[in-house]
Amino acid sequence: MTDWRDEIARRVRGECRRDEPLAPRTSIRVGGPADLLVRPADPADLAALLGAVRELQVPLSVLGGGANTLVADAGVRGVVIRLPNDFGEERADGETLLLSAGAPIGRLAARGHALGLVGAEFSAGIPGTLGGATAMNAGTRRGEMKQLLTRVELASAEGLAFVPAEALRLAYRRCELPAGSVVTRVELRLRPGDVAASRAAMEADVAHRRRTQPLHQPSFGSTFWNPPGRFAGQLIEAVGLKGHRVGGAMFSDLHANFIVNLGTASARDVLGLVRLAQARVEERFGVRLQTEVKLLGQLDPVEV
Ligand SMILES: Cc1cc2nc3c(=O)[nH]c(=O)nc-3n(C[C@H](O)[C@H](O)[C@H](O)COP(=O)(O)OP(=O)(O)OC[C@H]3O[C@@H](n4cnc5c(N)ncnc54)[C@H](O)[C@@H]3O)c2cc1C
Repeated sequence: MTDWRDEIARRVRGECRRDEPLAPRTSIRVGGPADLLVRPADPADLAALLGAVRELQVPLSVLGGGANTLVADAGVRGVVIRLPNDFGEERADGETLLLSAGAPIGRLAARGHALGLVGAEFSAGIPGTLGGATAMNAGTRRGEMKQLLTRVELASAEGLAFVPAEALRLAYRRCELPAGSVVTRVELRLRPGDVAASRAAMEADVAHRRRTQPLHQPSFGSTFWNPPGRFAGQLIEAVGLKGHRVGGAMFSDLHANFIVNLGTASARDVLGLVRLAQARVEERFGVRLQTEVKLLGQLDPVEV
């Protein structure tokens, strides 16, 4: 009998890698391999892949830049898709940009600035791709993707289609993408403005991040959403967990809402810290911290 991986590799023109380690493709550098990591060559190839995945009933996941993802130690069953940086045609039409979902988030402000457009200042220093930023409604106090997104191109086994941004019900770090769909391109509207001032604001934000975030260590950024009216980092610090270690993972002593990988962290270590903080904060403040990060793959029963 043909292995499903052989069958997918036969039908797809893009790159297919078996048992591909995912830790190096995430910013926290934790977790096991993907059964099959596929980088589709173009939209038609992605459609062929999605059709094959459905027909063969193989589990499907999408990885962007891996800046908000924790991969399980046992890895990820089925197909993991990673889009190339340039995927589908990009366009600029007046104040509206159509960009590839696999592109780094920084492309948005850079393209805008080149056209005399501003409005994406909030994206300064946020790592990852535009697809991931859409799926997470990434942002900061300055703004979020929701304010700029007008339409999103989605691929499914049925093909490619644009959907209006409102259909995704974007909210604080949330987006309701239809199950099994992949964002292939994003359409965003910027505005004409002072490019020098926009650049200066972004540079200042990046400098601020360098002072206040442990950017020299692998992490996935903030671990928990800020509960209404409170800061998760302050709650973690208040229960004495700033600088606390489990195995190779630690709540950063620079920014307590960041978990950093000291070099040998496993997903189990990271989740150990997550649970510890949830339990202590709930006990002391009656607030249940919710994780912002996405888990990819199945946890070992002992981790659940
Ligand atoms: C140092 C650091 C600082 C950070 N600061 C911020 C910040 O200020 N604000 C903020 O909002 N976030 C921040 N983050 C988190 C992260 O950068 C964002 O969440 C970012 O949007 C993740 O993008 P990604 O491409 O890496 O997504 P991934 O981690 O790869 O994926 C995240 C989710 O998006 C889905 N996804 C990715 N691409 C697609 C696609 N094409 N189609 C469908 N689904 C897709 C994945 O399946 C997953 O569910 C920070 C992270 C780090 C490491």
